[in-house]
Amino acid sequence: MRIVSLASGSGGNAYVVDSKYETLLIDCGLSYAELARRAYRAGIALANVIGVLFTHEHTDHTRGASMFEKRHPEVPFFANLSTAEAIGSKNFVVFENDQPFEFGPFEITAFSIPHDVSDPVGYLVKAEGKTYFHATDFGAPLESIGRKFFEANVATLESNHDSMLLERSNRPEYLKQRIRGDRGHLSNDDAARFVEIYSSYKLEYLALAHLSRECNEPHLVLKTMRDMLYSTQREDITLEILSQDEPSEGWVC
Ligand SMILES: [Zn+2]
Ligand SMILES: [Zn+2]
Repeated sequence: MRIVSLASGSGGNAYVVDSKYETLLIDCGLSYAELARRAYRAGIALANVIGVLFTHEHTDHTRGASMFEKRHPEVPFFANLSTAEAIGSKNFVVFENDQPFEFGPFEITAFSIPHDVSDPVGYLVKAEGKTYFHATDFGAPLESIGRKFFEANVATLESNHDSMLLERSNRPEYLKQRIRGDRGHLSNDDAARFVEIYSSYKLEYLALAHLSRECNEPHLVLKTMRDMLYSTQREDITLEILSQDEPSEGWVC
């Protein structure tokens, strides 16, 4: 499997899980032109996309869905019922959370995460004997999510904000409360603690995702996670900070 981020953050999200000849997209929050441009740069053929998984209906994850559907009408979208209804496309295959299903070479399981929409999910995707964990946009590092993370060889995990920068920012108080609330976004400290508690010896690559532009800095994300990995002797895990503007290096496992 190859895991690549094409965009990560509140300006748009699109992630790629690539098997040999078949590709899944997770979320479609870029215009089609931008998605195609970045996929080309990352060496991803959009013609190989066999399905698009949606995590939730916020526009930074769905903005490009209808354009994608027009260009690739044969490619099904996957979501649970609430998310499918909220996005409103006709092309959905509806799944139940926590019920694994097979699609192409992939085994896919959606699991519930806490965020301020009706039924947001993260995903475990298994293929070629490896397991990919994907979860962004969640406010509380619940044990149920940790149990999924424990299975992962590779993972994309939100590290949204530095708590101090959020506190000092000019954002209105209600927005600060929303971001740091249990249905908001994971802080750098929360993400590091989550990895410390729930990573297994199998974890080889960790992509840190959905960084806030105003309330985070890549070097703070790296330092927080690296300090924890150093203190727990897990410096074998490769870290990558995902960008809003550029495709990631990605990882082959
Ligand atoms: Zn988001
Ligand atoms: Zn969201």
